[in-house]
Amino acid sequence: MKYDKAEIKKLLTIENIFELLHEWGGDPEYTDAGIISATICHNAPGEGSRKLYFYENSGLFHCYTGCADPSFDIFELTIKVASIQFNRLYDLNDAVRYVAYRFGIAGEFEDEDEISNSEDWKVLGNYDRIQEIEFKKLNVQLKEYNSDILKRLNYTVKISPWLREGISQEAMNQAKIGFFPGGDQITIPHFDQDGRFIGLRGRTLCKDDAERYGKYRPLIINKELYNHPLGMNLYNLNHTTDNIKLMGKVIVFESEKSCLLYKSYFGIENDISVACCGSSLSAYQVQTLIDAGAKEIIVAFDRQFQAINDNEFKRLTLKLTKLHNKFKNDVLMSFMFDKKMITGYKASPIDEGIEKFLKLFKERIVL
Ligand SMILES: [Zn+2]
Repeated sequence: MKYDKAEIKKLLTIENIFELLHEWGGDPEYTDAGIISATICHNAPGEGSRKLYFYENSGLFHCYTGCADPSFDIFELTIKVASIQFNRLYDLNDAVRYVAYRFGIAGEFEDEDEISNSEDWKVLGNYDRIQEIEFKKLNVQLKEYNSDILKRLNYTVKISPWLREGISQEAMNQAKIGFFPGGDQITIPHFDQDGRFIGLRGRTLCKDDAERYGKYRPLIINKELYNHPLGMNLYNLNHTTDNIKLMGKVIVFESEKSCLLYKSYFGIENDISVACCGSSLSAYQVQTLIDAGAKEIIVAFDRQFQAINDNEFKRLTLKLTKLHNKFKNDVLMSFMFDKKMITGYKASPIDEGIEKFLKLFKERIVL
């Protein structure tokens, strides 16, 4: 099958670009200047500064630090990411195929015989259908790390700052939260739905590092980087799949800590929370939740705006509306949205206690 690079580029929407950046751990955000992301073009996820821009009118990325050739398109970025994150040497054809496949865009057949002979053609003619099929086929299994490393972390240190915030020791034990003295970091292992160990993230206690690298970053121990594409997994789903199936509901937080708080307040046995580990939910994550038996996906993102109708407010509501529109035919989506601003700026709905959480839960918005 043949893919036309220009044609596929034309079919890609800005949401598609955003989604790829999210899947690759760039933690993208929409701004007036375009999409801003961490520099995953020359860094592993969690390592770089937020200096990679995507401009919709030119269809090009620009890396404002580090890249020798600072201007490139989505396919060139795919080649870079494949090399850094998947350890694969992609050529342009591979990259175009990867992107087309990811969004279920069909290529053209090389000659007419192939068309008339192929039963597949009927399927390929229907974009919606192929998208559905490709998703099921895209049964991604992330790289598993050797979990021996977890035995070498310290679990006897009391994580006092988190205990003070209301996270119970029981919740931390279940999540195998530990401490890595070498990096002065709280360690958060990530598992896939089947409990395979796929990543290890750290929350630094050193203020300078937190500002420079962001709050959470993958750990590097003995030169091994324990990262994974954040948009291709859901934190805590290995513990909550059964409850989600039973209740038909799931609460999606942005960060791991919110899941720990949820378990602490409502009990491990009642936990229905997951974290998408960023400020957006990927199509892959939504599909995973539907497959897990969720009938309602309750989006519980941080209050990322300072005033009603400020620019951040507009971006957030636009993001949530798009999310709703994209999946409204597949699943009920509701939103815990703090329009009365009872929680602080950038707070997660569960950060400030059970009462505020329950209020936001009861008043959640169904579009
Ligand atoms: Zn770069």
